[in-house]
Amino acid sequence: MQRRQFLQAIAGLTFVYSTRDYAAAMAAGVVVMRFADDGKPLGKATLPKVSKDAEWKRTLTPLAYNVTREAGTERAFSQPGYDRHEPGLYRCVCCDNALFDAKTKFESGTGWPSFWQPIANENVTNIVDRAWGMTRTEVRCTLCDAHLGHVFDDGPKPTGLRYCMNTVAMRFVAYKVS
Ligand SMILES: [Zn+2]
Repeated sequence: MQRRQFLQAIAGLTFVYSTRDYAAAMAAGVVVMRFADDGKPLGKATLPKVSKDAEWKRTLTPLAYNVTREAGTERAFSQPGYDRHEPGLYRCVCCDNALFDAKTKFESGTGWPSFWQPIANENVTNIVDRAWGMTRTEVRCTLCDAHLGHVFDDGPKPTGLRYCMNTVAMRFVAYKVS
C-alpha cells in the first residue's frame, strides 16, 4: 500500500489529527461509542476527557503506566494474552473505553495483539508520530489519551490495516456464553 492510500484508509476509519489539533479537540470533550460488556453498542456519548494521573500511578502496573502514559512499548511476546483469541471486548486499561472486538484480532506473528479495525471509529485517535526520525501513526484512546500502540498498512483484508497494540494497555472482557 502506498503511503497516500494508507493515510486515506486510516482517515476513512478514524480521525487523523496533528498534535496541536488533537490537543484542541481534547479540551472540548470527546465523542465515543459506548459498549456493554457483551459487545452491544449503547450509542454515542460526548464525555469529558478522562485524566486521573495520580490514580493511574497508584493502580496501574509500572509497565502499563509506562506504556499508556509515557508512550512506552512492552517487549514482544512478553505479556500473557497477546495471542488470546477468545470472543470478547478489549477496553482501555486506564478508562474502560471500548477499543477492539476480538473478532477483528488476527495472528500477526509480531508478539503484540493485532487488530484490523477498532470497535468504533470514534474510540481511537490516530496521531502522526515523528519521533526517532521516523514517521509512524500512533494510536491513542480517544477518551483518556492513553498510548495504545501504532497502526501500519500491512494488515489483512478487509481494511489492510494492522493495529499493533500493547497487551498491557488493554483489559480483556470475555463475552459470556449464553
Ligand atoms: Zn482510555
